[in-house]
Amino acid sequence: MKDEIAGVIFDLDGVLEFQGKAYPGAVELLVSLRRRRVPIRVLSNSTLKSRRACTGKLNQKGFNVYEHEVVTASFATARYLETLNPRSCWVLLKEEGMEEFRNFRHDLNNPEYLVLGDLREDFNFQTLNKAIQLLYKGAKLIVMITETVDSSLGEMELTVGAYGKMLEDTAGIEATYIGKPNHYIFDITLETLRNIDRSQILMVGDKIGTDILGAKNASLKTALVKTGEFRESDLESPVVVPDYIFDSVRDVEKLFP
Ligand SMILES: [Mg+2]
Repeated sequence: MKDEIAGVIFDLDGVLEFQGKAYPGAVELLVSLRRRRVPIRVLSNSTLKSRRACTGKLNQKGFNVYEHEVVTASFATARYLETLNPRSCWVLLKEEGMEEFRNFRHDLNNPEYLVLGDLREDFNFQTLNKAIQLLYKGAKLIVMITETVDSSLGEMELTVGAYGKMLEDTAGIEATYIGKPNHYIFDITLETLRNIDRSQILMVGDKIGTDILGAKNASLKTALVKTGEFRESDLESPVVVPDYIFDSVRDVEKLFP
């Protein structure tokens, strides 16, 4: 059947879990999809989590996922950086996400690439000044995600994309952005689902501007869930219209009669 869904890509935060807890029905949904032999992927714009750490945290919450099914923005950025065969890089990132970059040559004084992830409280006057000086000297800028604010912890916080845009504007350069909605992270994820027609792959997300937009651009089917960071106002003049809108991730089951 043409409309049949043969693979599902889930956003993580706000879809499968929120603020550290799995959504009701999410674990069972994944079990049910596996029973139907539907390939599953988890696609997260997290930069702080490596693929390994993200898989471990999901499994601690009762999910049963494998490392090869999980793509984080830090993982995708490292894969992209590999294709550039860089002489050296300075990766501005904290926590386990750094694991993805252990095979690169790190040079904080004269890097070929500045790779921007979440540096949390270390995005300070000194660090940002050093970054801008390196960009003026010719270093190239890769930014892990486009998003400028993050409300996943409750309070709104500035995040990676805000610093990326500031550095771009100040240095008068153009950065490469990797995470959703950009095509790089989708390319890396879809490479592992090559045997399925894109029109039969469903992306499930809570954000129109990242999950749904990026998935549409990649010719995937899309389902917006009204959980996580979703707000009713998101539907007022959306940049793109999702194929399905569900109250929660458990409704994805309805697409598998
Ligand atoms: Mg989300």
